[in-house]
Amino acid sequence: MKQNVIIKQLCIGSYKVNTYLLICPQTKKAALIDPGGEVQRIKGLIEDENVELVSILNTHGHADHVLANQELKEMFSVPVCMHEEDDTFFSIQEVREKSKKELGLPAPSPADIRLHDGDELEVGNLRIKVIHTPGHTPGSVCFFVEGNLFTGDTLFVGDVGRTDLTGGSLDALLKSLEEKLLVLPKETIIHPGHDYGETPTSTIALEMEENPYITDFILAE
Ligand SMILES: [Zn+2]
Ligand SMILES: [Zn+2]
Repeated sequence: MKQNVIIKQLCIGSYKVNTYLLICPQTKKAALIDPGGEVQRIKGLIEDENVELVSILNTHGHADHVLANQELKEMFSVPVCMHEEDDTFFSIQEVREKSKKELGLPAPSPADIRLHDGDELEVGNLRIKVIHTPGHTPGSVCFFVEGNLFTGDTLFVGDVGRTDLTGGSLDALLKSLEEKLLVLPKETIIHPGHDYGETPTSTIALEMEENPYITDFILAE
């Protein structure tokens, strides 16, 4: 089968964030998801793959996912994209201070492009769909491309993201899972923002069988 997207992954920083490079195989254009630090390692990957980076995408505004935004943005002259609600939320001074205290890292700089639910981002021949999934943060999103879903801290293998941090809501997160993610094709491959599960990736079908937040709080109702 012809491969329509190439996915490269690095585990980055003290929070062990999964940073992903999505490559269009035909055009060699690429997007970077959640550069959580270690600029030189990420730069090395982009150079090794010999791709043209066109954008930086953030699943949400937490510091561990955005730490290398600014440096890489300047290095490659590309825009940083974040959902409008997290871009707004993390610009509030009180939120910035609280978030810095919680994570021990500085809150994000303003985004260059604000994302909205349903947006389609063009990266070569790839069409990356933005799915707004509030809950972990107000402006958390998942990125869907060619049967792959990049879930950030919304959905992990066998778990979900914390909702006790500033701006979090478990009710909102469960609603997002039910209405936005469980409706995707069951064979969709899940690529989480951290490797907290028994396996690095999963599928919607497997999570519907094994993730207690889905089986106990959503499907049991
Ligand atoms: Zn987070
Ligand atoms: Zn995280």
